[in-house]
Amino acid sequence: MSEVKKLFEANRTYASQFSQGQLPIPPARKVAVLTCMDARIDPLRALGADLGDIHVIRNAGGRVTEDAIRSLVISEQLLGTQEILVLHHTDCGMLTFRNEDLYDKISRRLGPDSAKAASNIDFLPFTDLEQSVRDDVETLRNSPLIPSDVLVYGAVYDVHTGEVIPVS
Ligand SMILES: [Zn+2]
Repeated sequence: MSEVKKLFEANRTYASQFSQGQLPIPPARKVAVLTCMDARIDPLRALGADLGDIHVIRNAGGRVTEDAIRSLVISEQLLGTQEILVLHHTDCGMLTFRNEDLYDKISRRLGPDSAKAASNIDFLPFTDLEQSVRDDVETLRNSPLIPSDVLVYGAVYDVHTGEVIPVS
């Protein structure tokens, strides 16, 4: 059986016990977290948040991209969030490659048309974890789409200890 089919099957149990179907759309704690898609991070549990408490925006690396900003603007302007946490993490896959490595792989595996399409993409890998947090916090603080009264925090999640360590 495909894994997705197993996930659907598991959901039947989840739904049969589900009791939080009446939550409002705006997140109760008025916080948006931008973090990595890494399978080892459970943002709600790691931050002591419940269903309905916070927005979690995820992508590879937890980087500030045009699409992350799109979600953050909707989160703030339409759904009332007032604080943002940029949360990158130790042992991130984004520390393990450069754009050129991925361009080469795509070229070899998918051919020239794909290589050309990929060449327009910055996959946003990084070499310095804390600096990547500082860069993304700075980008948000300087964005004309993020109001100056929205507080932007940065932190690193340690996948080995579960700790969240603020980055200043
Ligand atoms: Zn990651």
